[in-house]
Amino acid sequence: MPHPTSSGQLAAGEREDAQVSRLLTWLSATAIGFLIGIGAKAWFAGHSTHAWVLWSFIGLIALNMLYFASTGNRALQKAGMIVIVGLLFTYLIASGGESNTGPLWFYVFPPLLFYLTDLKTGTAVLLFCYLVAVVVFQFPGLPLVSAEYSMDFKIRFFAALTFESIFCFVLEASRLKARNELLTLAETHEHAARTDELTGLANRREMQNRLAMEFSRYQRSGHHFSIALIDLDLFKQINDQFGHDAGDDVLREFAGLIRTVIRQADVAARWGGEEFLVLLPDTSLLQALTLAERLRSDVSRHAFRFRDQALPVTISAGVCSIAKARSLDDLLKQADLHLYNAKESGRNRIAPRVRSQETDSSPSPSP
Ligand code: GH3
Ligand code: MG
Ligand code: MG
Repeated sequence: MPHPTSSGQLAAGEREDAQVSRLLTWLSATAIGFLIGIGAKAWFAGHSTHAWVLWSFIGLIALNMLYFASTGNRALQKAGMIVIVGLLFTYLIASGGESNTGPLWFYVFPPLLFYLTDLKTGTAVLLFCYLVAVVVFQFPGLPLVSAEYSMDFKIRFFAALTFESIFCFVLEASRLKARNELLTLAETHEHAARTDELTGLANRREMQNRLAMEFSRYQRSGHHFSIALIDLDLFKQINDQFGHDAGDDVLREFAGLIRTVIRQADVAARWGGEEFLVLLPDTSLLQALTLAERLRSDVSRHAFRFRDQALPVTISAGVCSIAKARSLDDLLKQADLHLYNAKESGRNRIAPRVRSQETDSSPSPSP
């Protein structure tokens, strides 16, 4: 079975990215509304240049939204938004905005930045913006810089911004830590719910799901598959003679042998007790019989040992192809019947025992 961690985390990352993207679209629309309002206020206060600059940011935000709508590139949408907001806030600091209150907008930046990017990028961008703000504050004579602030204001501005940034960083770091722990926990539980604890193979529930999936694939596209129902012979005797731990050991070792025989696409499950079920997609009855026979022969030749004692382990199996069955239930019933026949005819064997020409049912009729 594939390891669950990476796929689970990827799916969660994808969901979060989509959520951030939706929020950014709303934020962009809100920012446009604000800029229209604040620009109008500046216009009526007689600060027409300021109004035009603010309104030109509307164009940038709209461009970013349009570009995202046509390409769907979320990374560029985020980067575009960060650059536009960074430029807008730098302008507000440089110009002072209305009555020198422009720098106050800067406090929106740290939480937004840490929400949109990872901690490293957020910190780097924030430090860069600090640097720009320091330059603008310290050199009021620079071109485009028209505001001057008192020393008291500058000290308080940076002190408060530093505290805010640190809090945002710490909060985001602990949010990420809790999120990752939760994801790992969910994946562990999900993996446990699908896996047999003793052997590490799929459990019965997982196999039922896989069978249902394979059966609907067969119904949709006529892809044949086969199953092998395997039962350890006289297993009760092994438990009675060598102890339950020896029995458990045999089950684990047998699961290891199954893994070496099946292909990547096959699924092996502990169907219950000392019974195992192997699902073989795109496999004819003859191919499935060949695989089961190989496993039987491997098991009979394998030296099972427990505390220096040799254990007599053999298996019997009933094999069936979906081409010979009317439904999943019927498939399982027939495999069970073949298993019963294998036991009846002396164990350590595979059923059905038919001539190879008859049994080869290479994918043919549709269901
Ligand atoms: P047959 O060849 O007819 O299958 O004989 P058998 O003894 O294997 O069949 P039976 O159904 O009589 O006994 C199955 C035994 O498997 C009984 C049960 O204690 C043992 N078993 C089932 N699950 C486990 C397990 O998880 N660990 C161990 N050690 N034994 C188990
Ligand atoms: Mg048995
Ligand atoms: Mg049994």
